[in-house]
Parts: sequence; structure tokens; C-alpha cells
Amino acid sequence: MERVYNFSAGPSMMPLPVLERAQRDLLCYPGAGCSVMEMSHRSPAFEAIIERAEADLRALCAIPDSYAVLFLQGGATTQFSMIPMNLVDRAGTAAYVETDEFAKKAIREAARWCNAVTVASSADKKFSYIPEVRAEDLPQNAAYLHITVNNTLFGTQYHRLPQLGVPLVGDLSSAMLGQLYDIEDFVLIYAGAQKNMGPAGVTVVVLRRDLLRDLPEEVPTMLDYKVQVAGRSMHNTPPCWGIYMTGLMLDWILREGGVEEMARRNNEKSGLLYEFLDNSTFYTPTARPQDRSNMNITFTLPDEALSDLFAKGAAARGLINLKGHRLVGGIRANVYNAMPIEGVRALLAYMKDFEMEHRMP
Ligand SMILES: *Cc1c(COP(=O)(O)O)cnc(C)c1O
Repeated sequence: MERVYNFSAGPSMMPLPVLERAQRDLLCYPGAGCSVMEMSHRSPAFEAIIERAEADLRALCAIPDSYAVLFLQGGATTQFSMIPMNLVDRAGTAAYVETDEFAKKAIREAARWCNAVTVASSADKKFSYIPEVRAEDLPQNAAYLHITVNNTLFGTQYHRLPQLGVPLVGDLSSAMLGQLYDIEDFVLIYAGAQKNMGPAGVTVVVLRRDLLRDLPEEVPTMLDYKVQVAGRSMHNTPPCWGIYMTGLMLDWILREGGVEEMARRNNEKSGLLYEFLDNSTFYTPTARPQDRSNMNITFTLPDEALSDLFAKGAAARGLINLKGHRLVGGIRANVYNAMPIEGVRALLAYMKDFEMEHRMP
């Protein structure tokens, strides 16, 4: 069977050289005599794998020494709980911007722990834009402001960060390594690897070391950043295979030219799609132009029944997972780092054919 172009929102495509390298080392990792899946996480071979992954991530994102890097389990979703538990007291306040279903989930989890205040929302227009946070809406005592930098479901993205003097926390799940960010604009960022960075099962957290503190007894040990930093992500058995695969992906990004090159490619791929959509009377892009994501491109067809037909026809041509999120509808093309431009050209050709076939006379 031939490999398809996978437009999934995550787990997403991985580059062929990364998969081939993993295949080569699957049975016997060089020098170890066994697979990474069978390796002790305390072995020198695995120590080297995790150290190299951290060093490469630091190089790719220019992460300063004043920030710790963690490779955790539990997905970005577990960070929705960990962040308030580590950064705010129970009586304290945290501010959130509501831009997507993921932001809503983050707010819901924070509200279980502290006073979580939604300071801006784009729910009024189906999350099609990035709302402005007004300084006067921000509680004086907010421990941090949480934003979802790239909104995977609705296809919006911050192109200018809010700078209101309050420490910024960013969900970069679908943004990290697809676009260059200044780490020092944030006190903490986190990202599930399965979008731009690797396979499911690893979540990267980068946090400023001065945030680490002793937590109340009621916080579970595994949810304590100080414990995780002290254990160098190995307080318990880490997701060894996922960290290894993420390491291969980081190495690939470095060889390809780094995050700036990834951003250039993602802008080129998304630019081709947006240009086509903007000139179409058949397809309608849904995100406000100045807030568009360069990784998740969302659009609708003249009626929703056509979306199903569109996605099915695309799959028959080897272009899979194009249906929009079940809460959003329409079509979503996710063009993360590993999606080659050829995949986007094949999608554009299909979009033209589909329109010819289904346009009302
Ligand atoms: C995918 C995603 C999540 C959820 O990640 P999990 O690893 O499934 O927990 C959270 N936020 C954003 C922006 C995402 O894209």
C-alpha cells in the first residue's frame, strides 16, 4: 500500500526519513543490542537519547538556561490542571482567553483549583478570530494570563502576543516548532508532541525555573513541576519511545534548516491554500484574515452535506483526514511540519476538480 498525504490535526504525518530511521533501529538500537522500547530509562543509551533531545530542542527554540525543559505524559490536557496547581494558590486568580474548545477545557480545569477568569472570548463569532484583551478587564491579582497560541480546531493563531505586564502562559500544542517564538515572552509554554514535533504520548513543557516552588500536600506528586524537574522528566518511567521519536523529529528539523525554515514552509503551504480560498466563490475560509493559522486551514463548502462528499472523494485520492472537527464542521487541512508542499498541490488540484463537478450551474 502506498503512503497517503495525511492532513490530520494530530497525531499527524511524520517525515519519511524519521520513520525510516526508526525502522532501521527498531530491533537493535546502535550500541545497545536492544530496541529503545526494551531499554532501561536509567541506561546510558537512553540518557544520551533524552539529553540529546533536550539539547536539540534548546537549540531549535533558543531556550535560555533559566528555563527547564520537561518531557511528560498525560498530553497537553494534563497541563490544563498542572499549570494552575503549580502557579496559583487555591484562593488565587488566573486569567484566560477563550479561543477554542481547548481553551475552554483549560479554563474548566483551572476553575476546579482557583478563581479562573475569562478575560476575552471569541465565542460570539464561532471562534473565528483572536480577541483583544483589554488591560482594564485583567484582574489586578492574576498570577498569569493563559492563551492558546494556535487554535487547532478553528484555525486561528496569535500573530502578536498580548503584552499587559502579566506573566504569559501559552498552549503551543499545534504551534511549537512550526513558527519561531521568543521563549522569554512566556513564563511557561507547553505542547503535545503529536502535532508538529513527534508522536502522541509526549508533552513538552518549558518553564522558567524561578516558578518552581513547594506545593501544598494535596497536589499529586506526578503533577508537581519541581518533582519533575528534579527527576529530569524521569521521576517515574518516562515515555521512552515517544521521547526517542521526538528526538528523531528534532534532529530532522535541525537538518532541514531549523524552525525558521519550518515556518517558511508552513507559510508557503498555507499561503497557497488561502490564496486559492480567497479567490474562490465556492469555498469559504472561516478564520478572520489577520488571525489565520499557518498550520490549520479551515473552510466551508456551499452546504455541509458536500463536506462529507469532499472528504470521502479526497480520501479516495490519498488525501486523508480532511473533515473538520466534529464540533466545527466544514473542512480542515492541517499542514504541519511534515506535510510536503506536494501534498498541498495535490489538495489544490482536487479542490478545483471537486468544484467543477459540484458547482451549481
Ligand atoms: C491537541 C491539542 C490539545 C490537547 O492535546 P492532548 O495531547 O490530546 O491532551 C490541547 N491544546 C491544543 C491547542 C491542541 O492542539
